[in-house]
Order: sequence, then structure tokens, then C-alpha cells
Amino acid sequence: MFDETRCDRCGDCLVRCLYVDYDREQAAFEIDELIAGRPAPILSSCITCLACNEYCPSGARPFDLILERQEQFCSLGIPPEMLAAEEARYAATGEVRVLENEGRVLSACVFSSTDAELFQGRLFEGLPTLDEIEKRYLVHVLGRVEGNRTRAAEILGIDRRTLYRMLERFGIGDRDPGDAPDPS
Ligand code: SF4
Ligand code: SF4
Repeated sequence: MFDETRCDRCGDCLVRCLYVDYDREQAAFEIDELIAGRPAPILSSCITCLACNEYCPSGARPFDLILERQEQFCSLGIPPEMLAAEEARYAATGEVRVLENEGRVLSACVFSSTDAELFQGRLFEGLPTLDEIEKRYLVHVLGRVEGNRTRAAEILGIDRRTLYRMLERFGIGDRDPGDAPDPS
């Protein structure tokens, strides 16, 4: 959660953000706007990388503020109906119980900053390779467009020939019968 008491409006967080090119004045102005509960251009530029929580020298967690305003102003382009559906999907049901003596449950999310040295070891074992991630994402996109190769290529920002090569490389399915023939 953003801690306004720690924020002196220095602007470091947004000056160091790799996704915008702000000078200190602009950065401080936008942080001020967000604190005041108003929208600012950073809301649509921010890719939610979370890095500014690390950049802030006083631990104010500016990303938490940005995220809060992004949700408030629907800056990420997620339709409110979809947000409502997700909220309903994950809504807690049943009774909240206090567990006693059942051991600790620890999530990496509770740490206020990422310290790679603390997280070495099993947490990083078995991580997927880039190839695996690429394949999973490809399958995910194809699923979203119901197998339409043309649409999938558009979303991925590649031409259909490249898409077909990827499908072949990963051994994924046959061609979409609704598609035009492979341009190769
Ligand atoms: S959140 Fe941190 S880095 Fe950003 S303006 Fe406030 S004190 Fe500076
Ligand atoms: S979370 Fe957003 S504003 Fe912060 S560094 Fe990443 S892209 Fe920039």
C-alpha cells in the first residue's frame, strides 16, 4: 500500500521508470496528481512492471498508488464488466476462520521489496525456459481467438508465415480450416 507520509514528491520513481521519459518536474507533478486522487498520463503509460517500488528511496511504494488509480480510472482498458466478473469469481465465500497451530503460510508477495539473495534456491527451481513460455503464450493466444491463425498473428505482431513456423517448431495443431493457405 502506498505510504503518503514517506513521499516527499521527489519524483525519483517516475524519472527512473524505463517506460516514460519524464523530467523531475513532470514526475513530481504526476505523483502529486495521483495522491490527490486525480488521473495522470502515467496511468496509461505504466506497464505495471512494479520497479518504481524499488526506485523510491523512502519506501513509499508508488506503484501501489499507480495501480490503485489505474483500477479507479480503468486506465488499463479492462472493461468494468470484466473486472466485476473477476471479482465475483474470486469472491471469498463461507466463513472466515482463524487457524491455530497449523503452521505458517508465507507468500513472496508479503515482502516489501525483492531481494534476490533471499529468494535463491527452490523458489527458482523448475522455472520454464523462454521456449516454453513462448509456446504457452502462443497456445494461450490461439485459445483466445479460437484457433484463428490470422487473428493470432495480428495479436502477436508477426506475419502468418512466422506464425506457421512457430507452430511447426512447437508441434502445435493443424492449420485453421477457416484460414487462407499458408503464404510460404
Ligand atoms: S513515491 Fe518515492 S520516489 Fe516517488 S515521488 Fe514519492 S518519495 Fe519520491
Ligand atoms: S510500475 Fe509503471 S510507473 Fe512504475 S516503473 Fe514500472 S512502468 Fe514505470
